[in-house]
Amino acid sequence: MSVNQQTHTGPPYGQPQPGYQGYQQPAYGGQPLPGVPHSQYGVYNGPMPGYQQPVPPQGSVRAPSTSGTSLSSGHLGYSPFGQGDVQNGIPASTAPMQRPPASQPFLPGSAPVPVSQTSMLQQYGPPPASVQQLSNHMAGMTIGSTSTSAPPPAGLGYGPPTSVPPVSGSFSATGSGLYTPYTASQGPLPPSVSQGLPLAQPPFSGQPVSTQRLPTQVPGFASPPSSTGIGPSSYPPTTGAPRPPTMPGPPLPVQTAAGPPTSQPNHVSSPPPPPSTLSGPYQGPPMSGLRGPPPPTHPPQPGYQMQQNGSFEQVRGPQTNYGGAYPGTPNYGSQPGPPPPPKRLDPDSIPSPIQVIEDDRSNRGSEPFVTGVRGQVPPLVTTNFLVKDQGNASPRYIRCTSYNIPCTSDMAKQSQVPLAAVIKPLATLPPDETLPYLVDHGESGPVRCNRCKAYMCPFMQFIEGGRRFQCCFCSCVTEVPPHYFQHLDHTGKRVDFYDRPELSLGSYEFLATVDYCKNNKFPSPPAFIFMIDVSYNAVKSGLVRLICEELKSLLDYLPREGNMEESAIRVGFVTYNKVLHFYNVKSSLAQPQMMVVSDVADMFVPLLDGFLVNVNESRTVIISLLDQIPEMFADTRETETVFGPVIQAGLEALKAAECAGKLFIFHTSLPIAEAPGKLKNRDDKKLINTDKEKTLFQPQTSFYNNLAKDCVAQGCCVDLFLFPNQYLDVATLGIVTYQTGGSIYKYAYFQLETDQDRFLNDLRRDVQKEVGFDAVMRVRTSTGIRATDFFGAFFMSNTTDVEMAGLDCDKTITVEFKHDDKLSEDSGALLQCALLYTSCAGQRRLRIHNLSLNCCTQLADLYRNCETDTLINYLAKYAYRGVLNSPVKTVRDALINQCAQILACYRKNCASPSSAGQLILPECMKLLPVYLNCVLKSDVLQPGLEVTTDDRAYIRQLVTSMDVAETNVFFYPRLLPVTKADVDSDSLPAAIRNSEERLSKGDIYLLENGLNIFVWVGVNVQQGLIQNLFGVSSFSQISSTLNTLPVLENPFSKKVRSIIDMLQVQRSRYMKLIIVKQEDKLEMLFKQFLVEDKSLTGGASYVDFLCHMHKEIRQLLS
Ligand SMILES: [Zn+2]
Repeated sequence: MSVNQQTHTGPPYGQPQPGYQGYQQPAYGGQPLPGVPHSQYGVYNGPMPGYQQPVPPQGSVRAPSTSGTSLSSGHLGYSPFGQGDVQNGIPASTAPMQRPPASQPFLPGSAPVPVSQTSMLQQYGPPPASVQQLSNHMAGMTIGSTSTSAPPPAGLGYGPPTSVPPVSGSFSATGSGLYTPYTASQGPLPPSVSQGLPLAQPPFSGQPVSTQRLPTQVPGFASPPSSTGIGPSSYPPTTGAPRPPTMPGPPLPVQTAAGPPTSQPNHVSSPPPPPSTLSGPYQGPPMSGLRGPPPPTHPPQPGYQMQQNGSFEQVRGPQTNYGGAYPGTPNYGSQPGPPPPPKRLDPDSIPSPIQVIEDDRSNRGSEPFVTGVRGQVPPLVTTNFLVKDQGNASPRYIRCTSYNIPCTSDMAKQSQVPLAAVIKPLATLPPDETLPYLVDHGESGPVRCNRCKAYMCPFMQFIEGGRRFQCCFCSCVTEVPPHYFQHLDHTGKRVDFYDRPELSLGSYEFLATVDYCKNNKFPSPPAFIFMIDVSYNAVKSGLVRLICEELKSLLDYLPREGNMEESAIRVGFVTYNKVLHFYNVKSSLAQPQMMVVSDVADMFVPLLDGFLVNVNESRTVIISLLDQIPEMFADTRETETVFGPVIQAGLEALKAAECAGKLFIFHTSLPIAEAPGKLKNRDDKKLINTDKEKTLFQPQTSFYNNLAKDCVAQGCCVDLFLFPNQYLDVATLGIVTYQTGGSIYKYAYFQLETDQDRFLNDLRRDVQKEVGFDAVMRVRTSTGIRATDFFGAFFMSNTTDVEMAGLDCDKTITVEFKHDDKLSEDSGALLQCALLYTSCAGQRRLRIHNLSLNCCTQLADLYRNCETDTLINYLAKYAYRGVLNSPVKTVRDALINQCAQILACYRKNCASPSSAGQLILPECMKLLPVYLNCVLKSDVLQPGLEVTTDDRAYIRQLVTSMDVAETNVFFYPRLLPVTKADVDSDSLPAAIRNSEERLSKGDIYLLENGLNIFVWVGVNVQQGLIQNLFGVSSFSQISSTLNTLPVLENPFSKKVRSIIDMLQVQRSRYMKLIIVKQEDKLEMLFKQFLVEDKSLTGGASYVDFLCHMHKEIRQLLS
């Protein structure tokens, strides 16, 4: 069959499908994995090099009564091209990967148009005109000046958040240093691990989009084109230290010769095998005085078996025992001063986050994570790994607290391990992974189960010769629509299994029909409305001018559908203080026209025609407007602002235009002017630690909740950029942003010189990032469990549907599941997350993610397949929501209690008998105490020094939408000794534990948590290093008011700046840089992030907290 014959766009009725031409798949490795049967995707009826046959999830398909074959039994012997194809696999390095844009339609039977990297670049690159435009406008700007006389960092703790620089591509700005154009090198990475910076791309290896100077080019992480063509490139979510030189294959260190394997590939200390027992200094012989892990003293646990799941299953080892030894726990929390030296538990003997992260990197970073097997625990978020979708959603989309769920609710309750999934439906993928295919079933729409309405997925079981299918979620049998009929092969699998993403992949998209649209009408493209506060403070700080200047160029980089030449998004402009000014920027006008609405009590939009316009058509008028705005308000004396009417105005404008959209509101102060939504200053720090503390997190009026509801109904998403000089009640102002799925950014005491880079980087990324509008998400589950609780930035009008006016690529929704029946080990459990949304071009789509999990009757299996980082993500969100309704102390106690119960249950049911004096932790949860302590010490649950009420509300809101990688580094920051970095390599220095005792006075360190980057300089750092990094001759001359490092031409300076740039790119917000000199007053602030230490406001040290947990566990067991 020739590809050229395939011109129809839909499958013929009842006819075998022509071979789908290989999905534009990257050459998937090609190396057979042990235990994983292979076959290749066909290209033109031939084998697709290197594509491994998806392995249908074991046992996940409910056995149909009418069919003798099942996926699980059938896949082993089935290969459309015969077993011989296995040998044809081509190593990845020789088969260049191709990745289609997400929007590439998947039309079964039609010939896909090969997309080369080059053509993609052309597609995504900004139009030449834009480049010119950009150059022109940037020429007069001073963005990115490396000011060295900045005022002291204000509001340090949480300064303005920030976002990944527009590495997102296609936008290149002067000075910011982080706007990286797409380069021709965005193809797959060479499989070199020595590169160190995972996914790094060589800088400058392609054609820069603009001729502008690109100062600090980011050494890697050029972003992939997203489905909108300008996707952000925050990927990888976390990476870090270089991978150690390859460790091919899952290394399975054998601790003991006897017994079943007990160590797991990913949690093994590199040098000496990890002990299965660690004792405290005063208990157990092997310990005292030892630094480093003691030798194993604990025999492997009977009953631990190798997982049967296949090549990538981790064999979770037995618990690790930590000598409980520490008598009592007198020091927890409150005792002043360190415990007497003899009683001190050696910090090196307790579980180290750094070690766990490094072990996972070495053990799991070198092999792709293939999703064909049910219930596989993915590598940690801190490990850089490649994902191959073979039937389950990538962990970049969904991560679970456990991949093995207890069969009964009794077991689940006993363990107290929450069953939750952290879902990031529109996550950005690294360049070498394939974006979800878009499947178009034409007017009939996606095939769904008649009863539960689940979407066609790899776990549906076709029966009766392919005429019907049994639902994997509810077991209902549904007729296969005639146009979707396909014959089954002798194993019961549809012949077109590999031709259809929805049958063979974990994630894919369907083009939605009109039935999925509001009012049964296809949506119009969305609109962006920019709403700028022009009150006195905003004008005086230079903010208004900055925003207007930036918008002139930024408007050329609105999100675009991959194949579109220009964005379909229309734009509108409003300025406001106590009144609102609307602007008519219709293309036929010579000058923009302003219309003032001073009656803010009943907001309306004074003009419809000419308010929302196409950027290219109205370019001249828009530029003129943006030039004039700063001048018009230059002499304003108006200090008061309104806020509610601003959102109302945006909402009304979108309603009138009958479209969804996003409001970008730039706001400076508490809205005290007379208007709906007027607020009063009710900040009161005295409420901290009282029963009324919760009111600080609650909105002071229900006005904004009601407004949010209206916004969601219209698909009006609100992004909020705040520039406060004092309290402005984030808890109330943030409500609409929060409930519409928007983003909030805060730049306290905004100063042009110090903060503009951060703000502009955030703004650029926020405007450009991939976002879906009018989104509704539902999570379906197989019988036995159901979604019961949801955390994130959204609105819910019923108990099942998560509604978001907008959902961008950074937002996550955490879903908790509870049992409503018994589960079975054979069937396992299935999740299907379906997100209905409108793309940036106005296309209605469904994105589907499927995930199959194992079920267990033994608690040990649960504990062996947990993911602590995800657990912490859930627990933090749970606690952060709890503070809205309960005293903070109650929330903290509940967290501690739940974790003690989790660990006590393990000790009681899974650990071998041992002395009560020993603390025994499950291998997969050995970091639970240290991470939990970090959550307890976080500013929301235990406010640190100088943390404002607004900071706490802000952090609370941010964390609620964070993914697992973000919560991981937020709660346990990354600390890098940069003086130990190898200036000749791209690699990062190995991270160290967050404790003051790990810092050397002679070294310089970077500490990042996703919001801030600290540069800590020891008092004894060599003068040469100081000269090289800061350009001054001595420690005392280093200015701690710097917010950027000077650009100096020496290897050390370049290395440190490149590390900072790299960290910036990995985060979804541009981090604030703060220089901290040892023994300087700012060090107090820095020390708050040394989370293993006792905190100045009473937070326990890791050692003390571990002892406290031990005590709690013992109490539960006695
Ligand atoms: Zn069903």
